[in-house]
Amino acid sequence: MNAVHNVMETAVRDLLDQQWENLSISCHCEMCKLDVYALSLNRLKPRYVRDQSGSMYAKASLMTTQARATILTAITESAKVVSAYPHH
Ligand SMILES: [Zn+2]
Repeated sequence: MNAVHNVMETAVRDLLDQQWENLSISCHCEMCKLDVYALSLNRLKPRYVRDQSGSMYAKASLMTTQARATILTAITESAKVVSAYPHH
C-alpha cells in the first residue's frame, strides 16, 4: 500500500524552495525549513492521489494563483510560528 501520494507535499515543497530566501524568519537553517514545511502541511488540506494521471490533474489545480496564495499564506504563518518558537 505504497500507491497514494499527497500532491500538496510537492506543491508546498516547491513554493517553500522558491520563497525560502525571501521569507521573513529568524533562522534560515535546514531544521527550521523542515519545521515550516511540516507546519504548513498541517494547515493545508492534503490532496491524495492514487496514480500518475490523477497526480497531474491535482498538481495543475495547485498551480492556480488562488491555490498558490493559500499555500504561501500557510508558509508565511508557519514561518512566524517557527520564528517565535524555534526548536533549537
Ligand atoms: Zn534554524
